[in-house]
Amino acid sequence: MPKKPEEDNPWQTALTQFNYVSKLMNLPEDTYQLLKNFSRILTVSVPVRMDSGSVVSFEGFRVQHCSAKGPYKGGIRYHPELTLEDLKALAMEMTWKCSLADVPFGGAKGGIVCDPKKLSRGELERITRRYTYAIHPIIGADKDIPAPDVNTNEQTMAWMMDTYSMNTGFCAPGVVTGKPLNIGGSLGRADATGLGIAFITASAVQQSNKTLKNLKVIIQGYGNVGSAAGKFLEEMGCKIVAISSSGGGIYNPRGLSHNAIMEYYRGNGSFKHFPLAENITNAELLELSCDILIPAALGGQITKKNADKIKAKLIIEGANGPVTPEADEILSGRKITVVPDILANAGGVIVSYFEWVQDAQCYFWCKHEVNVKLRMLLERTFNEVYSFAKENKYSLRTSAMMLAIKKVAEAIAVRGLFP
Ligand code: GLU
Repeated sequence: MPKKPEEDNPWQTALTQFNYVSKLMNLPEDTYQLLKNFSRILTVSVPVRMDSGSVVSFEGFRVQHCSAKGPYKGGIRYHPELTLEDLKALAMEMTWKCSLADVPFGGAKGGIVCDPKKLSRGELERITRRYTYAIHPIIGADKDIPAPDVNTNEQTMAWMMDTYSMNTGFCAPGVVTGKPLNIGGSLGRADATGLGIAFITASAVQQSNKTLKNLKVIIQGYGNVGSAAGKFLEEMGCKIVAISSSGGGIYNPRGLSHNAIMEYYRGNGSFKHFPLAENITNAELLELSCDILIPAALGGQITKKNADKIKAKLIIEGANGPVTPEADEILSGRKITVVPDILANAGGVIVSYFEWVQDAQCYFWCKHEVNVKLRMLLERTFNEVYSFAKENKYSLRTSAMMLAIKKVAEAIAVRGLFP
């Protein structure tokens, strides 16, 4: 497994942020030690018969950070460059994300080192099933509940739910969230992260006494999360001027139509050469002129190398960890507001929580109910973070982390240490 160079090591980023905030809030040393470490890190081998007939062993992980406030919760990602450091950072971040929004879960993350673009559907299914079997002992509706993340989707969750259920002996829909609707999924879950980003963007813009009308938005990563954010922001009046996928992006300062670009993508498998737009690279996209920049692809995109070239006034972290701590400092010096991932993209795990509640009750809500509850929870959380930041003159990231860590620390304190 390749190790990432220090400066784009996501675990170092997560730890730097945690160290900074825990000092600032005088977190007791015992609590700091507990939260700096992980409850469990499981590495599994995932041997799979490939279509060619040969057997390949993939490496898989499930990282559980802290369950002080509830069962572990977090996505499963498939990526060829995935490392344990990525997953540790992401699992810790899930603890903060859940705590901040008062979602009663602890943080976890998992994944498999593989390139889904090079795998057939059958191979993907066999990898998913064998991985689920390997992590079976530590997951469950009351233990640890996986969900989709980068390169995984509803179908992945259906295979996971089926494998878990077959091995448990009964149908267990609550073991994963982000499932298809007909096996216990929730209305609104597929678009929840993107819709949440749109709600948070609206709240952030409102603070500067502006409206979304005609604000220029750039979205890096027009996948499940980014494209949903684009759709809702366009509906709310914004102008989407540039978007991208891993292969590159397109730019038109007069605006791109969400429906037209999605239709083009479905027909061509890429955004390249979209009519009336300029082809651009992912790096160029970040530095274009706009009002709002939404990095919704992978982590480590805005670093000390490009932070001084960013032209947006507002950055909404759609992805997990797209802005490094060094970049944060440069951006804050340039008075660019960053809405941190644990607030900006919390819509996904919030509706995952709603799905888990609906599964437990075997009673399902209409889409309106899901979206109204999502909006209320996100607006309340945003206002809490914003007021705290204003009162204490901290950044939104520091404030969000402080509020989140405080609630976890209180849960640890009142529960006490076993034995
Ligand atoms: N993978 C998403 C995240 O990073 C969703 C996690 C979940 O729903 O459990 O927040």
